[in-house]
Amino acid sequence: MRTIPHWINGQEVVPAAGNFGPVFDPSTGEQQAQVGLASTAEMDAAIAIAKAAFPAWRSASLSRKSEILFRFRELVVANRDEIARLISIEHGKVPSDAAGELARGIENIEFSCGIPTHMKGGFSEQVSGGVDVYSMKQPLGVVAGITPFNFPAMVPLWMFTNGIATGNTFILKPSEKDPSVTVFMAKLLKEAGLPDGVFNVVHGDKVSVDAILNHPDIAAVSFVGSTPIAKYIYATGTANGKRVQALGGAKNHMVVLPDADINMAADASVSAGFGSAGERCMAISVVVAVGDVADPLIKAISERIPALKVGPGTDPVNEMGPLITGQHRDKVASYIAGAAAEGATVIVDGREGSLPEKGYFLNPSLIDHVRPGMKVYDDEIFGPVLSVIRVDTYEEAVTLINDHQYGNGTAIFTRDGGAARQFQFDIQVGMVGINVPIPVPVGYYSFGGWKASIFGDANMYGPAGIEFYTHTKTVTSRWPDPSTSSVDLGFPQTR
Ligand code: NAD
Repeated sequence: MRTIPHWINGQEVVPAAGNFGPVFDPSTGEQQAQVGLASTAEMDAAIAIAKAAFPAWRSASLSRKSEILFRFRELVVANRDEIARLISIEHGKVPSDAAGELARGIENIEFSCGIPTHMKGGFSEQVSGGVDVYSMKQPLGVVAGITPFNFPAMVPLWMFTNGIATGNTFILKPSEKDPSVTVFMAKLLKEAGLPDGVFNVVHGDKVSVDAILNHPDIAAVSFVGSTPIAKYIYATGTANGKRVQALGGAKNHMVVLPDADINMAADASVSAGFGSAGERCMAISVVVAVGDVADPLIKAISERIPALKVGPGTDPVNEMGPLITGQHRDKVASYIAGAAAEGATVIVDGREGSLPEKGYFLNPSLIDHVRPGMKVYDDEIFGPVLSVIRVDTYEEAVTLINDHQYGNGTAIFTRDGGAARQFQFDIQVGMVGINVPIPVPVGYYSFGGWKASIFGDANMYGPAGIEFYTHTKTVTSRWPDPSTSSVDLGFPQTR
């Protein structure tokens, strides 16, 4: 059985004997590797390495840091196919989704290459006679990232690119379900010239997460995952005096107004609802059909669903892969049964139709006449299940979305610019798409939802990432008047 190593101090580290977790191939249901689940002692040892690496890395020049990140970017691009393969075999997503994830992650490397500009401070001359004030950004120390299974390369890249570019040293605790790709990226960072100990990957579960949250030498924690765990990470980390950014789950609505382009909206519903098997925190989960748009829209979506090819991510003809585990597949399937029992209309049932015999597959589902109060609406399902809610007016659509506990992403489909502008003003959601179903901001903006989709106020990556990983230090300085110097250099008296 292949054992996935940790990456500590610039080298692979074989996990201590005794505690391993399985890494499955979701397309077959068979275990393909094992990953060490670090003990508190193993995590403490890695944190000590990162702490020791901090003073030298902090002192490295901005141009050196930038140069390493530029080289890392080139290596990631050169190894694109291998990275996508590693994502695909452990996560199960199809190659196009894996390549798409990586492309979005590369944006974060590119943003961090500009670190000399991002680290600029401010300067106010002559705030008082002979007195200047200026501010600078300085790194925090050892920071940690804890990431979910659904974007095993992109979400770590959201964090560690800015984390190390700002001069911190980093401990990444990736999802134990698909951990290999982070070790591969760590090797590329070393090849790019990153000093040993600056970036470390320690695999694990709750034990290693708690070791991070309780360790006095961890200055900040970045987390992306489900809402209950995000809440726990935020509460525990901040109680221990750490900076914490914690992004949670989602339930994203796509409003379709009666004037929308039906084909465009139907294509978007299918790609955003079923892409990556719906295991995306920005997936569209609910289509809110306003007025008489519901019937033609549902017809158009239903016509597209049978054309979606479901199968192993390793085969490039497939458009939708398996879910991450058998347990998760069964949970997602239970929402389809539950929806029918609660009075919704199951138009396409993903439990039916042909599916590969082995692996954690489910076909796409489309459910009409969904209402608040039904579990299929209230919960985050995180699978290929698209609900439709019918409302009479724009106002009802907005109230529905604003009343939902989650506020990660949303979209509106319309030809009316005024309506779209009103929507972006009214809606209580962090990321809004206008005729764009998955509005993940580019790497030079920042990512974050509202309400139960985030704990704390620190968004991820882009300018917010630079802020999160740095302290501001403000200096007030006064120099003696040079005309009073014991050495007469000919300065006139000015003060
Ligand atoms: P998860 O919360 O189960 O796990 C996330 C991380 O937390 C993993 O590294 C895991 O090892 C760790 N963890 C799990 N249980 C823990 C516990 N009890 N104590 C401490 N640590 C624990 O999430 P997941 O299933 O890997 O990912 C899917 C979830 O992530 C979905 O809810 C999805 O919406 C969310 N997500 C959100 C965003 C976002 O940007 N808001 C992005 C991607 C995924």
